[in-house]
Amino acid sequence: MERKVRVRFAPSPTGPLHIGGVRTALYNYLFARQHGGDMILRIEDTDSQRFVPGAEDYINEALAWLGIGIDEGVREGGNYGPYKQSERRDIYREHVKMLLDAGKAYMAFDTPAELEEARSKTPNFQYDASTRGAMRNSLSLPAEEVQRLLDAGEKYVVRFKIEPGRDVEVNDLIRGKVTINSSILDDKVLYKSADDLPTYHLANIVDDHLMEVSHVIRGEEWLPSAPLHVLLYEAFGWADTMPEFVHLPLLLKPDGKGKLSKRDGDRLGFPVFPLEWHDPKSGEVSSGYRERGYLPQAVVNFLALLGWNPGDDTEIMSMDELIAKFSLDHCSRSGAKFDFEKGKWFNHKYLQEISDDELAQMYKPVLKAHGVDASAYEDSYIARVVSLVKGRINFVSDLWEQSRFFFVEPESYDEKAVRKRWSAEMPGILTELIGVLEGLDDFSSAAAEPVVLGWIADKGYHLGNVMNAFRLTVVGECKGPHMFDITELLGCEETVRRIRLGIDRIK
Ligand code: GLU
Repeated sequence: MERKVRVRFAPSPTGPLHIGGVRTALYNYLFARQHGGDMILRIEDTDSQRFVPGAEDYINEALAWLGIGIDEGVREGGNYGPYKQSERRDIYREHVKMLLDAGKAYMAFDTPAELEEARSKTPNFQYDASTRGAMRNSLSLPAEEVQRLLDAGEKYVVRFKIEPGRDVEVNDLIRGKVTINSSILDDKVLYKSADDLPTYHLANIVDDHLMEVSHVIRGEEWLPSAPLHVLLYEAFGWADTMPEFVHLPLLLKPDGKGKLSKRDGDRLGFPVFPLEWHDPKSGEVSSGYRERGYLPQAVVNFLALLGWNPGDDTEIMSMDELIAKFSLDHCSRSGAKFDFEKGKWFNHKYLQEISDDELAQMYKPVLKAHGVDASAYEDSYIARVVSLVKGRINFVSDLWEQSRFFFVEPESYDEKAVRKRWSAEMPGILTELIGVLEGLDDFSSAAAEPVVLGWIADKGYHLGNVMNAFRLTVVGECKGPHMFDITELLGCEETVRRIRLGIDRIK
């Protein structure tokens, strides 16, 4: 019988969600949607030492911003809750007892000092079948002694009793079969009486089982834990319903080797978090894709292609297209280089899809930040400005650099261009140009251009010099969209005013 697809994204709220974690969430989501399955968000907060306030809200906000929908979770509810591990203590306690009763786990009373001593005495000490007999645990101590310690309230941990010398097979849908020998595994701690909480391994397996997870899709860094997880499923007698494993390739530094880190982002100037993060302890602010001006669709598209391809060279894909095309067969085993420039390219592409009217609205706060009162302009004016320059932007904020002259007169004139284009005759020629412009009945680009060019040709003026000098007075530099599109938008009066200003100021 085909199993219903149920996947989970299971972050630990220990800080802001890393962009690699976002990709994991995205692949889970794409897989779930494609198969008509369920997407679970489970908060793995059993490590009380590393808990960071605000991290859970951050995760929710980031996923919502990106359009990664959750079917079951702390906020969404569902039939398999609670979805936060710290609220499932009873469940874990019961399952720890199951393993203890079945002889698959045992209690260990070793103090930190005793463990330290064992480590210093035995090189590469590992708590396992070869050493556990010499340690203080419920396998090595007499039953009465164990009872006495428990009655005295001694702190203990529960360890998984790994049988040595067994080949453990992990079947990974991307990597194929991975086999390791159980002798290299240590007797992992599953539960700590000190805080009455399970460790990641126990809670993760119990929850995946109880939540009927069909596929565990997670980062490659969890692959080393997988053999232990397989053994845990067996110990519980759940081998038949064990989920499929999928370990996604690492995100690698844009340059050189190794895993992408926050430091790479700081060093090369790009965010590694979806949203800006304000660290509650240090007060440090880490930049986010949202605040940097990325569109969520662009981030999703960019991330989808870091470790997966559609089988051809299609690059621009909406969420719906990604859902339709995603497949584990086309996920790569090797790490994916984090090509930050490509991320900008995606943003550029997605910005071109947005209507001029909408972009104009998005531009308004940027104008305001630059001291321009956007309400002094018609929306249609801002939209036309945007239509002329949007082909040159990667971010909405880039609109300012490309179009400031539509809102403010030049504050200075590019010196190099002045040296190249300005000459003693230029004020006279431009004064003549003012006459030509003021004589136009129709100031539209299409009407003004042939008249001005005709005048330049009739007079035998240097086309490049006159047009660039004209542009210098209006824009301040020799850049920007087509000159007559600019003047059409600015109108005759403002164009003429700027030419006069330029004649006055440029020496
Ligand atoms: N809580 C783990 C994490 O933070 C979950 C790993 C898994 O998906 O099993 O990534």
